Amino acid sequence: MNCPYCGYPDSKVIDSRDVNDGIRRRRQCLSCDSRFTTYERLQPASLFVIKKDERREEFSQDKLLVGIRKACEKRPLPTGAIDKLVDDIEAELYHLGKSEIPSTIIGDMVMKELKSLDYIAYIRFASVYRDFTDITALKREVDTLLNSEAEISQPTEQLPLLPDEKPLRLAKSHRRRRR
Ligand SMILES: [Zn+2]
Repeated sequence: MNCPYCGYPDSKVIDSRDVNDGIRRRRQCLSCDSRFTTYERLQPASLFVIKKDERREEFSQDKLLVGIRKACEKRPLPTGAIDKLVDDIEAELYHLGKSEIPSTIIGDMVMKELKSLDYIAYIRFASVYRDFTDITALKREVDTLLNSEAEISQPTEQLPLLPDEKPLRLAKSHRRRRR
């Protein structure tokens, strides 16, 4: 298993535990010291992703992790939140019991999860995945988020859309910031 960050082929196991139907291993790259998680499990059948151009590609947890991690870069997320998100999505995918799953289904799952985790990560992922081609489409999505945030009186888990240390001037109708 190559390191997902630097590609180095060797890692050491720093933690190992049984989960559901397999073994989860925390690993540390021997080259760059990055940590990542691997699973060992009996796979009922390979899971393939149907790409937009109809090509089939074997499902890769690493690929999913890299994409989500990119979207969450520099966001103040609790440790393990991204791993858990990927675990949940993978479990859900296998739970579907299908041998082929359209990439759009996976993308939608990620969008849904990120939306409840962090708006900035959500917008970043959406801009790649939904391929926002113009600023209007992006603005529409942000407006939807701002409106839904305004509807929630007591947001519990959601991080503020804007960083506190750098207040941005928002349009008057949206100038409702938590202090
Ligand atoms: Zn590495």
